Amino acid sequence: MGIAAGKKGIIFGVANDHSLAWYCAQALHSQGAELAFTYQGEALERRIKPLAEEVGSPFVEPCDLSDDDQIDRVFTKLNRLWGEIDFVIHAVAFADKKDLEGHFVDTSRAGFQLALDVSAYTLTAVARRAAQMMTSGGSIVTLTYYGAEKVVPHYNVMGVAKAALEASVRYLAADLGEKNIRVNAISAGPVRTLAAMGISGFREMLKLVEVKAPLKRNVQGQEVGNTALYFVSDLSSAVTGEVVHVDCGYSILGM
Ligand code: NAP
Repeated sequence: MGIAAGKKGIIFGVANDHSLAWYCAQALHSQGAELAFTYQGEALERRIKPLAEEVGSPFVEPCDLSDDDQIDRVFTKLNRLWGEIDFVIHAVAFADKKDLEGHFVDTSRAGFQLALDVSAYTLTAVARRAAQMMTSGGSIVTLTYYGAEKVVPHYNVMGVAKAALEASVRYLAADLGEKNIRVNAISAGPVRTLAAMGISGFREMLKLVEVKAPLKRNVQGQEVGNTALYFVSDLSSAVTGEVVHVDCGYSILGM
């Protein structure tokens, strides 16, 4: 029996086997959780289906989280399958590539709206629907980054979106606490993924962490997955509204 045995949940944001969402899926599966997945776009379907099969998932559906109808459709189907869920992993973010280079001051209205909608608002959109299925309490986990707290070169509008996401975690935790639904964020150090490689200067960020972080290395995807497992499991039963840094200590340096 694993520490997630008997728990069922849905994971948003697996693009491939390097995705942080996939590391979360593997950690949860290894400890007995049952998993549902969504993907965005037909191109991803071919990559996600074999991964979902690897962890015995009975549910793999398309869902663009910027579309409320698609979110409703996914939760209606999930409700039909399981009736109740215990957790959500939200590992989704997007910004126009041109807004992740140059200066934040040049962010357009459209670029700002897009980044904030996909990277921050979608957590609330998902949490509202998921809460209706969390009849025995639950755990909602999202992924954030240090660029929400401090200025990180090129992270720009995504830093502003992550700040909104982290504030959303606290407001959602306050709203949903009386239903015993916990909401937390993992602030992960840089990990080589599709989304991360779109940020200008990402390789330099990896090198800097290796030199400066107290643990003198970068975080592994598995360590992010293990933290999601902690948040989903009852080991974290009194923890909500938190942003936990999983970054080899980099964020304590204040620079
Ligand atoms: P990833 O593998 O590229 O995952 C990002 C996911 O977001 C992809 O599956 C992507 O699908 C999905 N997505 C984007 N727009 C969407 C939409 N409208 N609807 C549904 N899904 C959408 O990269 P990742 O690094 O694992 O990112 C996961 C989360 O971790 C993000 O919130 C990211 O900001 C956060 N994070 C990453 C790092 C890092 O260094 N990697 C550090 C801290 C936090 P498409 O590929 O189809 O767009």
